[in-house]
Amino acid sequence: MDSSQPAIPRQETESGIIERLLPRDLRGRFLAVLFGVLLPSLSLFGVLHYDSVKRSLLKEVDQTLVNRAREVEQILSDSGVHTVHHFQDFKMVDSALMVTSAPEVYVDIIDNRGYSLWASQNLVGKSIPLTKGSLGGEAVLETLVQPDGLRLRRYTKPLVLRDNTRIFLVLAEALTHLETALQGSIGRTIILGIVILTLTEILGTLAFRGIFIPLRNLVDTAETIASTDDVTRRVPISVDADKEITRTALAFNALMDRVEHLLEIAKQLLADTSHELRNPLTVLMTDLDLLREELTKEQKDEVISEAQSTVRRLNRLVSDLLLLSRTEAQSEAISLEEVDVTRLVERLADRFSRSLGDDGEIVFDASKSSPNAIALLNRERTEQILTNLFENGVRYSEKSEVKVRVLEEGRNLVISVKDEGCGITPDEQKRVFDRFYRVDRSRNRHSGGTGLGLSVARALARLMGGDIKLVSELGKGSDFRVQFPKVEEA
Ligand code: ADP
Repeated sequence: MDSSQPAIPRQETESGIIERLLPRDLRGRFLAVLFGVLLPSLSLFGVLHYDSVKRSLLKEVDQTLVNRAREVEQILSDSGVHTVHHFQDFKMVDSALMVTSAPEVYVDIIDNRGYSLWASQNLVGKSIPLTKGSLGGEAVLETLVQPDGLRLRRYTKPLVLRDNTRIFLVLAEALTHLETALQGSIGRTIILGIVILTLTEILGTLAFRGIFIPLRNLVDTAETIASTDDVTRRVPISVDADKEITRTALAFNALMDRVEHLLEIAKQLLADTSHELRNPLTVLMTDLDLLREELTKEQKDEVISEAQSTVRRLNRLVSDLLLLSRTEAQSEAISLEEVDVTRLVERLADRFSRSLGDDGEIVFDASKSSPNAIALLNRERTEQILTNLFENGVRYSEKSEVKVRVLEEGRNLVISVKDEGCGITPDEQKRVFDRFYRVDRSRNRHSGGTGLGLSVARALARLMGGDIKLVSELGKGSDFRVQFPKVEEA
């Protein structure tokens, strides 16, 4: 089979044609389907109804003609008309035949040569047309169309008199009343059709109001948002709306809530970033201004080292922001390897403690740590997370002593970094992982942190399949618990 051929091209083409024929809007489609089903059905009903009315009316006419023929035959027999000549003699035949139950029927009695022997009074000056072969041995019912368009139903019945001569009873009735009745029936059918279509349209529109109106609201709202950038707009939820449409509107509103929230975050981030950058830039500017002045060597060194530390802070701020945006965009490539977490933590705690000198201590609690805790991690990034937590632990505690342990909890390894510092209130615990969030903004800006440490740490932990949880009590201290799925030993 040719693999380039689509599997069901025929169906696609057919549905494509139908698709092109249907109107593009929902209401138009609904009406097209409605009329597409109703019109042929009503037309078929109209044709069948017309045919049945026509048949029954014609049957009625035929019955009248046959009955009248029988009546004439009976009168002739009762009046003693047994030969052709009796028609001239019997004046009473005339009067007997005049009494008729069907005055609209034309009656012509003709001999076998076609000459009229007797004709009803309504035929004065006229005659019932005879066609070739109508004077046969059988009674015949036929419909004739006159040159003036008048339609006649004719009944021809042969009759053998006692003297063996054959005469014909020719009876006819104009079909004018039948046609009038049929026209009336067509008119009624058309009116009925229009009433049915209009009612169906009105009822259908009412029934589908729960789709059309809410859907229009949804589209209007979406268009207004797109044209005005007003992301606070929401779709009104209508009580009449269909379940599916309500769900769509609710989903749209939820999506817009999310968009609004994300835009708010982006706006906040921009404002926070500018704010955070302004402070070190002002410091740098002041330092540069100072360097223009006459300064002693010590003063100059002091200004330069302040400028250097400010640049370092700026550098860290920018790299933290970049790292965060890359982790959020999931474009930060990270390689993982099996790491002996206990050893890594122990070594880092030792190294960090030494770098702190008298400013603090990171105490690794080997006795309470799992001896063989293996996880799939990136060493460098794990050390970056822990360094952040160690720095905070030392920075936010009076005692400047931080305890670190590696625990096994179910399928996870937990690195607990615990201090006995100021602690964090439950409300703030939820926010300390937010970018630039500081518990006491003015105090902590001077502590040298960027306000990004915890958000970077958590983003990195999550990038490696882990997370960071916080257990803290105000005035008693905090326990930052970094968890990773542990690698089970084979
Ligand atoms: P910063 O660079 O300001 O330290 P972080 O993201 O690391 O930013 O921390 C956010 C805020 O959380 C800090 O400003 C501080 O108020 C609070 N915080 C972080 N660690 C601790 C801790 N160990 N004890 C008390 N508060 C802390």
